Amino acid sequence: MSLEKTDGVVLKAVEWSETSLIVTLFTKEFGKISAIAKGARRLKSPFESALDLLSLSSVVFLKKSGESLDLLTEAKLQRRFRSAQVGLLPLYCGYYAGEVINALTENHEPIAGLMESLCVTLQELDRQASPAWTILDFELQTIQRLGHMPSWRWCVACGEEIETDRQSIAFSPLGGGVLCPNCTPTQRGYLRIAPETLQILESRAAQLSRSDLAIVLCEPRAPAILAPKVRAELRLVMEQVMLNLSERRLRMLDFLGDLKR
Ligand SMILES: [Zn+2]
Repeated sequence: MSLEKTDGVVLKAVEWSETSLIVTLFTKEFGKISAIAKGARRLKSPFESALDLLSLSSVVFLKKSGESLDLLTEAKLQRRFRSAQVGLLPLYCGYYAGEVINALTENHEPIAGLMESLCVTLQELDRQASPAWTILDFELQTIQRLGHMPSWRWCVACGEEIETDRQSIAFSPLGGGVLCPNCTPTQRGYLRIAPETLQILESRAAQLSRSDLAIVLCEPRAPAILAPKVRAELRLVMEQVMLNLSERRLRMLDFLGDLKR
């Protein structure tokens, strides 16, 4: 057991007893932590609003070994997620980002850069940046940091570079990337997407991987406005990729239908 101090984003809080909560936070140094917050449900909680969903808080906790829950001893609010005042879609996008991080990470396994991506995503939603681009950026960064970036250019079955001057290109979420015309008939469960959709995914993933986040967010996105067909395909691809990684359908995906329109 050791007493640790860090910053974390609140991913989940569930009732544990009449007066306590079990809180799940994502932190930079410790990855995900699940801790008991004693007295958090009392009217005069020692944690005040530091344990509200998606708040960024400074916390002190007693780290337990093995499967035991950690014990939260202090939490102080640093930054509140305010998108409820912006609109329902940004709010749902924030909940979705929290659900993704919770579903794809393990307790006490830090992942470089992931906390930063989550914080930037929540800030972007709060400042009313385009939810469609913000969520796509978040998803691409998350799968990249977890080491699951799909292959956007080389066939996942044979390794050949695919030709993009076609009407549509096969993408296999299960295989983890695109398929060339020779390999496509041998595979199952692939999607057909337009070359423009693929190009957006490839170029944005490359942009996000090479620069500092603050710089990337200031870079112009091409195209600035996504065509409805491309929007719908981007969601289809990312939903399928997330489905494969989390091995279950994420609940908040059902609330993001407006990202396709
Ligand atoms: Zn192939």
